[in-house]
Order: sequence, then structure tokens, then C-alpha cells
Amino acid sequence: MSGVHCAALRTAGCEPRPGHFGEAGPRHRIARRVTTEGSALEKVLNYIGGELVPATGGGWLEKPEPATARTYALVPDSDEADVHHAVEAAARAFPSWSALPAAERSRHLRRLADTIRSRLDVFSRAESIDTGKPLSVASTVDIPRSILNFEFFADAATQFASESHAMDGVALNYTLRSPLGVVGCISPWNLPLYLLTWKIAPALAAGNCVVAKPSEVTPMTAFLLAQACRDAGLPPGVLNLVHGLGPKVGAAMSVHPDIRAISFTGSTRTGAEIARVAAPAFKKLSLEMGGKNPNVVFADCDFDEALATTVRSSFANQGQICLCGPRIFVERPLYARFKDALVERTRALRVGDPLEPTTDQGALVSQQHFDKVLGYVALAKQEGGRILTGGQRAKVEGRCREGWFVEPTLVEGLDAGCRTNQEEIFGPVATLMPFDSEDEVLAWANSTRYGLAGSVWTKDLSRAHRFAAGLHSGIVWVNTWMLRDLRTPFGGVKDSGVGREGGWDALRFFTEPKNVCIKL
Ligand code: NAD
Repeated sequence: MSGVHCAALRTAGCEPRPGHFGEAGPRHRIARRVTTEGSALEKVLNYIGGELVPATGGGWLEKPEPATARTYALVPDSDEADVHHAVEAAARAFPSWSALPAAERSRHLRRLADTIRSRLDVFSRAESIDTGKPLSVASTVDIPRSILNFEFFADAATQFASESHAMDGVALNYTLRSPLGVVGCISPWNLPLYLLTWKIAPALAAGNCVVAKPSEVTPMTAFLLAQACRDAGLPPGVLNLVHGLGPKVGAAMSVHPDIRAISFTGSTRTGAEIARVAAPAFKKLSLEMGGKNPNVVFADCDFDEALATTVRSSFANQGQICLCGPRIFVERPLYARFKDALVERTRALRVGDPLEPTTDQGALVSQQHFDKVLGYVALAKQEGGRILTGGQRAKVEGRCREGWFVEPTLVEGLDAGCRTNQEEIFGPVATLMPFDSEDEVLAWANSTRYGLAGSVWTKDLSRAHRFAAGLHSGIVWVNTWMLRDLRTPFGGVKDSGVGREGGWDALRFFTEPKNVCIKL
């Protein structure tokens, strides 16, 4: 860190209330006006109008590696001036990008997908180092899915069609769908490139130009994406990436008069703030937010499948997936057997260096998130929970001994209404609860403010249909978890979201319909 003058500042708006752990949303050490000459730290740059540039104000944020807790990169501390430049660049690119035939835009997206694929190892390693997730996960889930996002919407661009409504010999209506213009995409840290490209790809496919803000917590693969865009020949200004803090960059995007829509994924608290400031300008909004999903296991389930999948749905990506099912309800006759087997499987998960191929569980993404998750473990104990396994900082030797590792944790003995079972922890902490009837468990499953996803395990087909219909959530899996068809509507109800992503829903969001009525 030679030459870097650090000031430990607080990120406005991210302060947890006393006794309240808040939602996910790490704070950062911020280095301002740093002298970066001679520094070994890698510098992430903004991507504006086809150029890789630092923030106009010259400030930088420190970016630590979660597995070692050591700063390894600097990120531009951008502000509204950078957002303004990005919007101008996007607006300049829009006329020619939107006028391209869909097949030509599709070819651009495919070239970008191919460029990322040719750098799979580089992207995967960068994602693992930046997030703390196992390299095996980054290289088999995050980066392949990011490539698929571009390929899927490259196809969709050429297949998208609009409706027509004939009025029995009187008139014919048809709907034109035009791109919106410049749109904003704001994404979180848990699946950095995966969720960023899930927004960028449909926006570009539909003919928009994009200003995107990756999470400041995990900026590295967005930086690699910018380099890939240049190498793949994406026209300058079509995609712009502005790095920096949410309350500066994201807030400036949310109120910018020339950004016609915001597609956001992140916490419910931030989603509410974006809605508050963006609504007066009548921007289109798509908000994908927090979750506290139920995983409901009936006694007639396929035991082995339910068990193996519950390990994944509780602890995949260290529990930092919005679709994880941290509330595990098990029908009483199966409870003891399921609990014992789940504890055994959970204890067998290997916590370790994310870069080691044998590692199942990596580090949590930041110090603040690590503190928050351990705070919730303490709360679970205060609320009367018994720790069945885990519950501590995980000790990892060697280069990772200072890293933010938490043992995969299972808790029992809590009721469905306590804070541990109502608030989003977003870490490797799951609770087990026995239930006696379908009505009882449905009421518990639906008892939180959230409604993103749920899983139900049963061989009784009628019950599966009944339960799926009764769950208050945007997504239900029966006898599976996180099985995704990218054409299906993706999103939540209640405080988990507004709008849907995926397939035609995403292309409809990023276009404006216009009805033309022709009298016959
Ligand atoms: P976050 O809300 O803190 O940040 C998300 C993004 O919003 C970041 O890029 C951040 O910089 C930006 N931001 C912060 N303040 C802003 C503001 N005032 N205006 C505009 N932008 C602002 O969320 P996070 O901690 O990065 O991610 C974890 C959360 O994301 C969890 O709640 C999780 O459930 C949720 N999530 C939801 C989905 C989904 O599909 N529903 C998927 C992944 C994650």
C-alpha cells in the first residue's frame, strides 16, 4: 500500500442501526486522491464511450480480497460527473445501435460471449478472488452463465415479436415495441458478472444503450467485461460501466433525467430508495430484491434428493444467493432423521482457500458482511436457538488466515416468527423447524415480508400443486432448487420485488409498446 493515503470513512446510508444488522450492504475503506504511482495494486477503470478511464474526481476505493482481507485493487470513486459523461456517451451511441437490424445486434452479443468464453479461466479466477467464492463455482456457474446470458438474448433479439389484435372486420391493431433509449442497470456483489449480464444483455438486445453500475464490492469482472467489449468490437458508448459507491453513482443514475429505466438487483432497502427518487421522473423500474425463502420437506419426499439439495440450497455460494432457502421446515415424522443427516453433511463441507479445488465453502464477501452474519448467529442464540453445527468464524490456515470465513451453521429451536427467521441474513446460516400440518407450514412459509422463491419436497402431486399455488412467492420449485429455464419469469412478490426478468419479460421491460390501430 506504499503511497496510498487512506482515510477510513463511512459510506453514507450504509450504517446499520444499533441492535439491527440491516440488510446486506458492505461499507468500504475509502482512499481519496491516492498516489498510485509505483503501487502494485491493480486499478479498475470506468468504461465510458469506449475508453477505459479513472473517475473524473481522481478518487479511489480500496478493494480487499475476502479470502485474505488484504487490499489488492483500487476502484474508481466515481460521482455524478462520471454518470453524466456515461449518459452522454450512451445517448450518442443510441441512434446507430438502435437502428441496427436485430440480427446485427445479435452478432455483437455473440462475439462478446465468445470473447468471454475464450478468457474463461481469467474471468473465473478474477471472480473467485474478488468475491471469495470457490474457483470451482466461478468457473462452472458464474462465468458460464454470464456467457449464456449474452447468447440467450442474442437469440431472443431475433425471435422477439409483438402482438396484433384484429377487431372482427372493423380494424387491426398492432403493437410496435421500441427501445427506451439510455437505460441504467445496477447490480449486487453476490453473483457479480452473472447478474450484471442478466440485465445488460436484454437491454442491448432490445436496442438500448446502457449505463451500468456494478457493485463496488466486486468490480473486477465488470472491468474484464469492458476489456472484452473493446476486443469484441462493441461500438463505443453502447455499454458504459461506471464504478463507485451506490449513494453516489447509483443515486445519480436513479435521478438522471436521460436514463429512462432502472433495472436494479440488490437489497430491499436500496430498492426502496431507488423507487423513492426515481418515481417522480416516471422511470420504468424493475426491482429484484431480498429474500428469506422457505424450503419445505414433507415426510413422503425422496429423502436423498431432498437432503443433497438442501445442503446446496442452504450453503451454495456461502448462502449468499437470493434464492437460497435458509428456513428449512421438515415434517415431524422425518425431522430427527433429516436433521441428523443434514448436520453430518454440513460438517463435511470443506471451508478453505477459494482457489483450492477441494474447497466447498469460501469466504464471505466483506468484513461488514462477515460481522453481520456472525451478529445474526449471536441473535439466534439470544432468541433461544441451539447451534447444531458451525456458529463460529472458520479457521483457515496459510494465506487465508485473516479471511472472512464463517462455518456453515445450522440452528434449531426457533419459532418461525423470530427475527432470525424473518430477516435476511444472506450467509451460511440456516434454521430447522419441525411442522405437523400443511396449513401450519404454509402459514409459516408465507409469514415474512419477502416472497422471492420457495422449494417444496413431496411425492404427493396434488399437494405439490396445492402448495405451489398457496406460496406467496414469484418462483416455486417442486422437488428441486435453482433449476432455471431463462425463458421463465424471474422475480419476487411483496418486499422481494417489482417486475420480472427473463425471456420476453426482460425484452418487454426494455421496450416501450405503442399500439397502432388501422380502421379497415
Ligand atoms: P445493495 O442494495 O447494498 O447494493 C446493490 C447495488 O445497489 C450496488 O451496486 C450498490 O452500490 C447500489 N446502491 C447502493 N445504494 C444505492 C442507492 N442509494 N442508489 C442506487 N444504487 C445504490 O445490495 P448488495 O448488498 O450488493 O446485495 C445483496 C442483496 O441483493 C441481498 O438483499 C440479496 O437478496 C439481493 N439480491 C437479490 C436478487 C434477486 O434476484 N432478487 C439477486 C441477488 C441479490
